[in-house]
Amino acid sequence: MKITRTISGARRLCKATAGPIVLVPTMGALHAGHEALCRQARRIAGPNGFVVVSIFVNPTQFGPNEDLAKYPRTFDADRARCAAAGVDLIFHPSAAEMYPADFSTFVDETAVSSLLCGASRPGHFRGVCTVVLKLFSIIAPDVAVFGEKDFQQCAVIGRMVRDLDLPIRLRTIPTVRESDGLALSSRNRYLTPEERAQAPTLRRALLEAKAAFRAGETRAAQLRKRILKIVSTAPLARIDYVEVAHSQSLQPVRLADRATVIALAVFFGKTRLIDNILLK
Ligand code: AMP
Repeated sequence: MKITRTISGARRLCKATAGPIVLVPTMGALHAGHEALCRQARRIAGPNGFVVVSIFVNPTQFGPNEDLAKYPRTFDADRARCAAAGVDLIFHPSAAEMYPADFSTFVDETAVSSLLCGASRPGHFRGVCTVVLKLFSIIAPDVAVFGEKDFQQCAVIGRMVRDLDLPIRLRTIPTVRESDGLALSSRNRYLTPEERAQAPTLRRALLEAKAAFRAGETRAAQLRKRILKIVSTAPLARIDYVEVAHSQSLQPVRLADRATVIALAVFFGKTRLIDNILLK
């Protein structure tokens, strides 16, 4: 496994490969969810392909009062996880390498980005699209793999790839969870023991809403109400949003169907957790 911190180094190594290139963009602090992405990338690339993992805590996707400074950086452990998952190259640039002082070009997806997390985190998806397009340009992957946990991110990047005619196939994998249902996240380590104990309520609420849908409840307002009620049993939870939306456009729906996603963001203390469930 190779490691490079420079754009020119990453370009050179990627250009030198003959097989398909598969990219897994991450911000590091890797956990079993990221590892599942890397293993999927390895399967897609095949024995002759080239699996690239980027590890970059992207400053442009953090708001001014968010956790950029304290976001966990665990490169040594990340490197070991990547090696175990069959990664060929880690691209680990500095912020200065990615964003020169006079950097002034951004990518703005203007529809899907404005909803859900985009409404609570203005500028977040602009930062995500900008860095992902840069990574696509540097690595030139045939395939990029993302996690369904960041459902809106998948939808926004899907739009960007379509709208800008990028010759890259996107693949997603299901969310990897703790045994009690909590979605793995680099931010889970911020949770106090009390918050951690209550956090699985989110998954329970989403599963109950899906069960209600399967039992015939299609009214989005009722499904939402059920979720709010269950989440309110966790005294430390503070809801940012719960939305019942179309899984592609992310526009809110009045009646749920099999193309519906229920997505939520909930604070436990200062830690903001997201999760979602598809009704299909
Ligand atoms: P991050 O490092 O949090 O920016 O995430 C990098 C990639 O890992 C994104 O495609 C995420 O959707 C994906 N990811 C994060 N958490 C999980 C999880 N629990 N299961 C599967 N994929 C995940």
